[in-house]
Amino acid sequence: MKNLLKMFPYIREEYKRLIIVTIASLFLAAVSALQPLVFKSILDSLVKQVATPAHHIDFRTPFLFMIGLSIVYLGFSHIFNIYSEKVVWSVRLKLRTRIFTKITGLSLDYFETHQAGAISQRAGESIMQFSDWLRTLAFSFLGPIFTLIFITIVLFTRSFWLGLIGVGIILTSYLEYARTRRITRQPNVEWKKYGERSSGIFNETISNMSTIATIGQIGDFRQRYKEAQTKMIGIALGVRQEWNHSLFRKSIFNESAYIAGIAVTVWLVLNQKASIGDLLALTSYLSMIRNNAGSFAQFIPLTDEADVSAERLIEMLEQEPTLQDAPEAVPLKHLETIEFKNVSFTYPEGKKGAVSNISFRIAAGQNIALVGPSGVGKSTITKLILRFYAPTDGAIFINDQPVESFTIESIRQHVGMVMQDVALFNASVKDNLKFAQPKATMADLELAAQQSHAEEFIEELPKQYNTIVGERGVKLSGGQKQRIAIARAILKNSEFIILDEATSALDSESEKYVQEGLVKLREGRSSLTIAHRLSTVRHADEILVLKGGRITERGTHPELIKKPKGLYKKLFDLQSATGKVSL
Ligand code: ADP
Repeated sequence: MKNLLKMFPYIREEYKRLIIVTIASLFLAAVSALQPLVFKSILDSLVKQVATPAHHIDFRTPFLFMIGLSIVYLGFSHIFNIYSEKVVWSVRLKLRTRIFTKITGLSLDYFETHQAGAISQRAGESIMQFSDWLRTLAFSFLGPIFTLIFITIVLFTRSFWLGLIGVGIILTSYLEYARTRRITRQPNVEWKKYGERSSGIFNETISNMSTIATIGQIGDFRQRYKEAQTKMIGIALGVRQEWNHSLFRKSIFNESAYIAGIAVTVWLVLNQKASIGDLLALTSYLSMIRNNAGSFAQFIPLTDEADVSAERLIEMLEQEPTLQDAPEAVPLKHLETIEFKNVSFTYPEGKKGAVSNISFRIAAGQNIALVGPSGVGKSTITKLILRFYAPTDGAIFINDQPVESFTIESIRQHVGMVMQDVALFNASVKDNLKFAQPKATMADLELAAQQSHAEEFIEELPKQYNTIVGERGVKLSGGQKQRIAIARAILKNSEFIILDEATSALDSESEKYVQEGLVKLREGRSSLTIAHRLSTVRHADEILVLKGGRITERGTHPELIKKPKGLYKKLFDLQSATGKVSL
């Protein structure tokens, strides 16, 4: 319950509607509690009329009263349905958008430690459960409580034994549910955990199908999914069956109590302590108490499941990015220089440092290259520039100001990227390009495509710029995707570019186009290139050779080539001898 209460401040705008829903449900409960009394009055009048036909007995008042109750019932049940539906859907809208905004604002480390499938499953299911719980709150909890109190009072006024039977039904329902609730609390948490795990595996497998198929490991993934599902279903079934057993035990007591209640009422009638009308009203009340105690008690497990969901929602809603803008940060207007001074960094999950004591400066218009085998810290350096992480030691400067002086988003707006894995959205070529610059006109797109040499293949596509590419569209080759990325970077028109060369060799025509596109892109801009082919770094203003996260050599190509024992020289000789060797 604790977590559910904590969720209320997030749905403050719904309070008014929730109050209306609650009032409506109380009216509905009142009508159903009064109806047996009206029937009683009609039945008693009827018995009297039959016994004494000479007397004129008034039937109009109870009938008018019954019509009045029906009108109230119809009106409030409509209000209840309309408003509770509004509450449910607008809570879903608000929480979904709020969580999406929150998650997309988190630092990269969150996504490196959480599976995409698990995040969306967690958010989707938890929001559904919480919003459904809000609907039942008024209908299955507040309404029944009101009815139960009312009926118990009526039963006690008629007979102590009847009142006791009523209280007995309520108490057993409650105790039985409370017991099962305690038993199922932990399995409920486990159930959710395995649910998330299996949708994580499902999504991960589907989105990496081509890689998995190539390494022939699909059997492994199927097995993992089956195991997670089997575990989850086993727990889910166990929880549900526990509730069914509990329902059975409770029903045995309730049915016996109901029959005992009827026996007491019949005894009251026989002893002239109650009328025939009372028999009708009291048996209806006993049956109502049985049903309401059930729905009130059923609300308890729902509350438990919703409480676990609320806990998960709160965890997401309260998650803060590890890296946030400093209070005094201002937007970066123009990016001129980037400087690393003795920067070291260890990943939150990492055991040893990813980079150590890195220092370099990229002046306006300069091109710096990072060279070294995989795992030496090249991508880490780019992540630090993009402020996905903050250095553990040392400092980064932009325009000779500490990087913290600028807002994170504004820094990213001034950096263009051409990465190895170019992400294409399942949209037209036009939209894929526009993604870098939403205001770009068709003429801008065409110019960028021309400069990046993407034009050559776009013209060949079935619907040119309107061809759908990506996941469910035309598949583009690695080189073509890179040309799209170059066009995007040209459109973004940032002062600084990060280039991560493709490791796999492109076909020679694509290679030529990509290289020409890159030359065009670099014009008048500074850049940091993660180089996999030394041929492309010959003209760099400075080459940083990395080993184990440290810079072991630095200089221009002619300088480095002169160091006979250097790593660069070794790599260069190797590449020259074998032609194209990727690092
Ligand atoms: P490169 O780009 O040169 O291949 P990276 O910068 O990706 O190298 O990695 C540098 C080191 O940091 C490696 O040892 C790698 O295993 C480690 N590393 C990279 N990303 C993470 C991460 N998210 N958490 C922990 N360690 C990481």
